[in-house]
Amino acid sequence: MNSRYQVLFDKVPIGPVVAPNRFYQVPHASGMTEANPRIRAAFRGMKAEGGWGVVSTGAVSIHPSSDDSPLPYARLWDDNDIHAHALSCDAIHEHGALAAIELWHGGASAMNRSSRIAPYSPSGIPWAATHVGFMGQLRPKIMDAKDIQDVIRWQAEAAIRAKRAGFDIVYVYAGMGYLPYEFLISEYNRRSDAYGGSVANRVRFVRELIESTRDAVGDSCAVALRISLEELRAKPSDHFESEAHEVVTLLSDYPDLWDVKMDSSPTDCSASRFREEGSHERIIDFVKQTTTKPVVGVGRFTSPDTMTSQINRGILDFIGGARAGIADPFLPNKIKSGRQDEIRECIGCNICISSWHDGVPVRCTQNATAGEEWRKNWHPEHFSKTPSKDRLLVVGAGPAGLEAALIAAKQGFEVTLSDQSEHMGGRLNFETSLPGLNTWRRVTDYRLYALKQMNNVALFTASKLDMDEVLELGHERVVLATGAKWTKSLYSSLEIPVGELNQPNVYTPDDLAMGTKLKGPVLVYDFDNYYLGGVIAEELAKQNLSVVYATPAGHASAWTIMTNEQPFVHQNLETAGVRVITQTLLNSYQGTIAELANIFTAKPEHVNVNSVLIVGLRSPQDDLYQALVANPEATLTAGIKSIDRIGDCLAPGAIVHAIYSGHDYARNLSSKPSELFLRDIPIALHPPGPVI
Ligand code: ADP
Ligand code: SF4
Repeated sequence: MNSRYQVLFDKVPIGPVVAPNRFYQVPHASGMTEANPRIRAAFRGMKAEGGWGVVSTGAVSIHPSSDDSPLPYARLWDDNDIHAHALSCDAIHEHGALAAIELWHGGASAMNRSSRIAPYSPSGIPWAATHVGFMGQLRPKIMDAKDIQDVIRWQAEAAIRAKRAGFDIVYVYAGMGYLPYEFLISEYNRRSDAYGGSVANRVRFVRELIESTRDAVGDSCAVALRISLEELRAKPSDHFESEAHEVVTLLSDYPDLWDVKMDSSPTDCSASRFREEGSHERIIDFVKQTTTKPVVGVGRFTSPDTMTSQINRGILDFIGGARAGIADPFLPNKIKSGRQDEIRECIGCNICISSWHDGVPVRCTQNATAGEEWRKNWHPEHFSKTPSKDRLLVVGAGPAGLEAALIAAKQGFEVTLSDQSEHMGGRLNFETSLPGLNTWRRVTDYRLYALKQMNNVALFTASKLDMDEVLELGHERVVLATGAKWTKSLYSSLEIPVGELNQPNVYTPDDLAMGTKLKGPVLVYDFDNYYLGGVIAEELAKQNLSVVYATPAGHASAWTIMTNEQPFVHQNLETAGVRVITQTLLNSYQGTIAELANIFTAKPEHVNVNSVLIVGLRSPQDDLYQALVANPEATLTAGIKSIDRIGDCLAPGAIVHAIYSGHDYARNLSSKPSELFLRDIPIALHPPGPVI
């Protein structure tokens, strides 16, 4: 290990327990619940195996009055739930790490759609009421004195269940708009009793939650406080620099550990497109000077130098990570063994967050094995050696081809990877040149670096293969990762891609990738709805072109609500001077006039533009695949045993889909999969009965 990084491996006491190092996997949404306890345990166990000294759950509901359905949330309501969580604790402890649990009451944010209990709140103020997906029609009730005492008791009872499950650190969670946070923030808390008014009164509920948790379990478990400080830091205080300073001072030594963060998901877990590594520091930098207790914070840390600097400068005691550990559970061990070049760095795309919004276990662009540790028995670092002497030809070195080549090579296959372009990386070569997407280069860099270290891999660029050349090479296994092409398809009011706009001066992102310069003004018409349409509009505006961005959706880059990016997409387009028209179809383009029509009313609008760029439908570029499978005799004679398609060539998708597709293909090369995956089921040691 580089001696500079030694400090990251110090043991650090947290109340009555001791963390083996400073790598702390903070609570994060994983989409894993009591419905899939084994998937969850294996996911967390892998982080511990990879060297994280503390591994935490995500939010765990303490009571049915904190019910986040239909979003996936964990709970700790009864003995069956204890058993489900015990699996995670065992998996974490097996590798010497501490297990932490984030006990959670959502207050007004939990719509209790399943339990049908009136949501709890300090003063009846609803949460995030304009945020699609979190909207509900039920306004929260105002908690009375008994309700307050009930929640404090439920927290203590849940803490006792947590201890029985085997957790070492038990959280009080006062962040992100949830119930204890609502007591802290004056806009939510308009009470006139002992729990409202002054800051000293507003911290009372949090302090009593900490005290009741400590009384319940504090002899052998540490009690952590997780708190959002962004809003509080923006509020002036009479005697302190801000309300954040006042709150931290008042609660200073009550918890055994401070876990500090931002207030909203887009700023707390921001995409690399909009926030740099370590972006929380400006909000949380004062906490360590205000308490004697250890402090953990996050900031999409992947560089050991940045981590070391945070410790040495006295900002943090623990390097908190959620995404860093999803992308590479073995990050700590790689630093420890001097292999930091091998870290599979998070790219900050937030596909992992989108999995939670989708209601499924976490998926990661960089790490195809995340969430598949148990159900597919995929280990991110271990690969069984193949007895096969088959050689593999991978055509196309985009994300899918790179991943397939790497995973096959790790199993010992002789691999030839060939791309027609002068640079490996496929679509990423162009896309990572666009505003904010440079960090995504890590997808290519990580894989190419690894492939170049291996002596069973031959890499060819500027090498376009046709059918004859594939036959001539005669590798036993052939996989086509030749990507997809953007089409000029339009879109109908039935929300179906229709026809094509084959007119002069109509372009797709592929034209930009090949270096075509557009003449302004430009209409960017986007029904792909992910990042590319918005980011291209931003890029064209930066080139001083006048840009109109139109979409049938209600927002620009509508799907980016799933990745915490949408507010910033709109901010950037506004700053760049792009005019945004939503709920709009592009019907025709004649001369310089593009005819748009409202998708609901058909009301027309004309815009004068010299270029139209359509970011809509992609279709697989699978000519070579089709030619090969249409010639079974020739391929048999050439000795080819299998021909497959992966990535966009099979089904166009996001980079996460291409990586997964390449990984899955390569894992299945050595063994024929007899089943898709193992199916997890809830733990039911005790019969169904009343809820607590
Ligand atoms: P994916 O996301 O599925 O990996 P990409 O579009 O990113 O797909 O990458 C596809 C790659 O395949 C591109 O780099 C392209 O240059 C390459 N390619 C396409 N056809 C051929 C071919 N016939 N021979 C070699 N490379 C090809
Ligand atoms: Fe990082 Fe993207 Fe993986 Fe999330 S999905 S951990 S942001 S690489």
